Amino acid sequence: MTLQNELAKLLGPKGWLSSDKESYETDWLKMQSHQSLGVARPCSTAEVSSVLKLAHEAGVPVIPQGGNTSLCAGAVPEMPGHIIISLNRMNKATSVDPLAFSAVVEAGVVLAALHERVQEDNLAFPMHLGAEGSAQIGGLISTNAGGSHALRYGMMQDLVLGLEVVLPNGQIWNGLRPLVKDNAGYQLRRLFCGAEGTLGIITRAALRLHPAPVARETALLAIPDLEAMVRVGARLRHSFGEFISALEFFADDGLAMVLNHVDGIKFPLENHAPAYILLELSTSAPGVDLAQMMETALSDAFEASLITDGTIAANDAQRAAMWKIREEIPEGQRREGPQIKHDIAVPVASVGRFIMDMAPRLDAILPGVRINPFGHLGDGNIHYNLSPPEKQGEFGDHKAALSLCIYEAAEQIGGSFAAEHGLGRTKVHFADQLRDASERQMMQKIKFALDPQSQLNPGVILTATQSQE
Ligand SMILES: Cc1cc2nc3c(=O)[nH]c(=O)nc-3n(C[C@H](O)[C@H](O)[C@H](O)COP(=O)(O)OP(=O)(O)OC[C@H]3O[C@@H](n4cnc5c(N)ncnc54)[C@H](O)[C@@H]3O)c2cc1C
Repeated sequence: MTLQNELAKLLGPKGWLSSDKESYETDWLKMQSHQSLGVARPCSTAEVSSVLKLAHEAGVPVIPQGGNTSLCAGAVPEMPGHIIISLNRMNKATSVDPLAFSAVVEAGVVLAALHERVQEDNLAFPMHLGAEGSAQIGGLISTNAGGSHALRYGMMQDLVLGLEVVLPNGQIWNGLRPLVKDNAGYQLRRLFCGAEGTLGIITRAALRLHPAPVARETALLAIPDLEAMVRVGARLRHSFGEFISALEFFADDGLAMVLNHVDGIKFPLENHAPAYILLELSTSAPGVDLAQMMETALSDAFEASLITDGTIAANDAQRAAMWKIREEIPEGQRREGPQIKHDIAVPVASVGRFIMDMAPRLDAILPGVRINPFGHLGDGNIHYNLSPPEKQGEFGDHKAALSLCIYEAAEQIGGSFAAEHGLGRTKVHFADQLRDASERQMMQKIKFALDPQSQLNPGVILTATQSQE
């Protein structure tokens, strides 16, 4: 019997798709689309284990897939001949423990659904990103997602207490302990955070929860220049301490793309500025006067000419409208036309200078290239995205040179060319150029120890050839 027939028999018609599978084979940005042998949609850990055992015996590579929102083609095949294993049907929030502030969930639970579920117990899972209506817990852990609240709550690895993982040969590791402290050897759960589906398939996770916020204040601030933005950010952190839950930024060029291309966007300030900060404060403790705190600190910053304009959301609708501007920037740029996305991190103090210094260097490679930097000011994560010169409408053959220029500059000042989206398939070759050989070799050894046949997601993190060496 062929592997496909065995999987069809094991999983039944809902669990094995041999046709109508294009949406699983094509990535979010539509950079890549290749036929798979089929899509397995198991509905239990035991089924995931059986699928991996059969694929292992047949020597067929397997690509784990969550919500398929990867921005670097990590969850789709780059050539025919693979099986995709989708966690879509493993989507139950199995239990919430309000006394321990933890939840155990299946890997296919969509982030927005988890937000809703834990709210019923007056709790919050503080991971927020633009794709939260599709991204799944397993995918978020596997990319070690960051998002807008990482400054206060950390990345996904900081919210994972324990994991259940199926290894490439089908063996199940039950490390699902919902404990903050568990130091019985190597931190295996951390190894799977950011492993991008190359070491095992996450089937369940124990997650850390927080008390739900009882008050929130949101403001949009106009900043006179990009360097001042870093100083304003630092001052806001001193003014608001642990109450800051988000400190996001974007430039006027990104705002223009949103206003030009996305319906229903209202810009709430009177004057435009080179840069903007979206600031959010929140607290779970009753009796904290965030509104007063916000008013005082912002009028001080205004008097010190650190901000040139600003407005505080008066209600939830205004708050949502401010967040919509920030979250629709990628969509505004997509509708503008071709783009190159970069997800880098630099030391926070360098964010403004880096953005400004790079512009002329990129212009020397492709005159007129337009920059659209935005991202997470609090942790130095810049989405340094590019659009081609307006008249030209395309990048020609300059794409690789532009990306390498940005990546090298970030790495040279102690930053990272891959901040929160992972390497996927599109950044592996840059990793070989930018990171030292010993770092890459350690990764090869880890991969070989857990997946000697290089069966899980070959071509991600390491090239397919490296995984087998
Ligand atoms: C509009 C938009 C906004 C975004 N904003 C952010 C942001 O602010 N911050 C951020 O960090 N990212 C962001 N992303 C990127 C993306 O949402 C994240 O990388 C997310 O974590 C991917 O989750 P997913 O379930 O869609 O995973 P997928 O895209 O399906 O997979 C991602 C990787 O994880 C692996 N994988 C998936 N599920 C499992 C599993 N159960 N076990 C093992 N491996 C698995 C896949 O093989 C792949 O390598 C954004 C994406 C979009 C489209």
